[in-house]
Amino acid sequence: MLFVVLVCFLLVLQSFRAASEQRARELDHARQVSANLAQSLSQHASDIFRTTDASIIGIARRIESDGFNSANLDQAARGMSARMTVFPVMAGWAVSDENGNCLTGSLVRSLRQCAINYKDNLEYHRSHQDDVSYIGEPFQTTAAEPWLLPVSHRLNRPDGSFAGIITGDLSLDYFQHFYDTFDIGQLGSILLAKRDGMLLVRRPFAARNIGRDLHSSHFFQNYVTHNLNGDVEVASATDGITRLNSYRAVSGYPLFVSVALATNEVLAPWSAERRARLVRVGIMVGVIGGLGFWLAAYIRRGRRLENAYYEAADAFRLLAEHSSDLIVKIGRDMRRHYVSPASRSLLGYEPEDLLGHPTDDILYPPDRAIWEHAFNSQIDDTGEDVQATYRVRRKNGDLIWVEVNRRTLPENEGFVVVSRDVTARKTAEDQLTQANLQLENLAHRDGLTGLANRRYFDDALQTEFARARREGKVLSLIMIDVDCFKLFNDRYGHPAGDKCLHAIANVLAKLPARAGDLVARYGGEEMAIILPNTPIVGALQIAERARLAVRQLALSHEGNGPKIVTISLGVAAAAPDSGATAPVDLIKAADGALYEAKRGGRDQSRVAQATSAAEIVHPSAAE
Ligand code: GH3
Ligand code: MG
Ligand code: MG
Repeated sequence: MLFVVLVCFLLVLQSFRAASEQRARELDHARQVSANLAQSLSQHASDIFRTTDASIIGIARRIESDGFNSANLDQAARGMSARMTVFPVMAGWAVSDENGNCLTGSLVRSLRQCAINYKDNLEYHRSHQDDVSYIGEPFQTTAAEPWLLPVSHRLNRPDGSFAGIITGDLSLDYFQHFYDTFDIGQLGSILLAKRDGMLLVRRPFAARNIGRDLHSSHFFQNYVTHNLNGDVEVASATDGITRLNSYRAVSGYPLFVSVALATNEVLAPWSAERRARLVRVGIMVGVIGGLGFWLAAYIRRGRRLENAYYEAADAFRLLAEHSSDLIVKIGRDMRRHYVSPASRSLLGYEPEDLLGHPTDDILYPPDRAIWEHAFNSQIDDTGEDVQATYRVRRKNGDLIWVEVNRRTLPENEGFVVVSRDVTARKTAEDQLTQANLQLENLAHRDGLTGLANRRYFDDALQTEFARARREGKVLSLIMIDVDCFKLFNDRYGHPAGDKCLHAIANVLAKLPARAGDLVARYGGEEMAIILPNTPIVGALQIAERARLAVRQLALSHEGNGPKIVTISLGVAAAAPDSGATAPVDLIKAADGALYEAKRGGRDQSRVAQATSAAEIVHPSAAE
């Protein structure tokens, strides 16, 4: 701002200085012009008076030597006429005797005319013996005729006494016209005056000025009376206008010429130029000032924004550097461009160790798919957050789970990735999942045998029954009961009975080959096997395999016929065309078959009669 103000100030100062210098130059020039003109005009006046002088002195000398008779005077008249034709500024002449009577002359109309016109000259020469010319007072013969200025010489008789005068009359009109030819402006003035203060000619012309006495004027009093020549600036006594005044003495005569140029006219072009310059400088100052103010405001605003930006950047850096989350900037090249110091606590690496490396360098390879999904998906979807949880390896080799938030930066700048250690949470989650699984298992399992429990069996049977109906498949069910188990308990004790049940359950659990098969504890020492999509024949084969497998356990049972633990099995199948309409029908049928097996002597499998026309296998017979 200071700079702008200074520049404007200097501009204004410079313009004022230039203006004042130009003003001085203009005035100097005008002074020179007026001085030169005054010098020329004084020389001109001097020449005219000298020539006039020379003319009348020549005639005077001849009259004095030849005498005042009429023949001589006529000859003089011829001589003067000849001179007047080649020297037109001399408008007239006359010779008068010592009493002022006209003896001869060009404009003589009466005898006493000379005494009137040349009164001043006659008086001077009558009282002065010297041989110098005298300039009298301007006169007009009549009001209509031009003004004349008489220049005279004394005529002496041979004895030296006063005999009269000879005068040459100079036309003041001639001077007037001559002075009018110069370009000195509207208000400029030129004057010719006698040194005693009598004004003879003045431009501009005014009749009342002729013969006026300048004596009392300020100009005359202060300058002309003190110096013969001078150049001064003075206010005019005539019209009050200040002028540059150059006055010069006319050499050889008691006269002076003055040329005056009006200051305001001289300076008019300068004034106009100054006004134009003022406007120019005003515009320049306005433009520079305006631009300067605008620039200053612009810079101030920029600095404010910059400060705010740096403050915000500092704040964000502080946040990034003190966040427990790891903040990483990833470029389009998929390498790290910034790594926050949290890398030390999170990964055990210094930020510098990770900088410039690709982001998958510490990835746990099995989690690559998750990582790729997070970093390659929606790569152009600006602003879209992607979240992923995967494992990375710390510097010390430990695996940790990190939850990663990826945000795409605008303008292809890459990503910002914020990572946080979620190992503890992940472990807790895993444990919870495990616990839930166990819980679920517990809810579905029978505690003693490890088989599916009765409730699960009921649900499964319901589901499989519906599915079989829907899909038009056969569903088979085997009901199993341990033979004479009451006696086993009685003989070996209840805990041994439990152990026995557990052993049988283990054997049964290994039997079914298909995923959909289900072995369950139906209740007490009764167990059941659901066999989806299995016809009765297949079911019976499985039943027999079960019976034989239990026999192979060879658990001794003194109370049982074969002296080992055996089981009886009832098999039923629900084909789509069978009469079974609900799971309970299938259970009833299988139960019925089991009853038949018991009745038939135990340790055998029976097929439900009502189920179909399937053959009844009698294992004991087969053996
Ligand atoms: P049968 O050959 O006719 O089946 O004779 P059984 O003695 O086995 O007769 P039943 O099936 O009616 O007897 C069931 C017995 O099984 C009753 C009970 O003492 C025994 N039992 C049932 N549940 C358990 C159990 O969970 N543990 C033990 N140790 N014994 C059980
Ligand atoms: Mg029973
Ligand atoms: Mg039993």
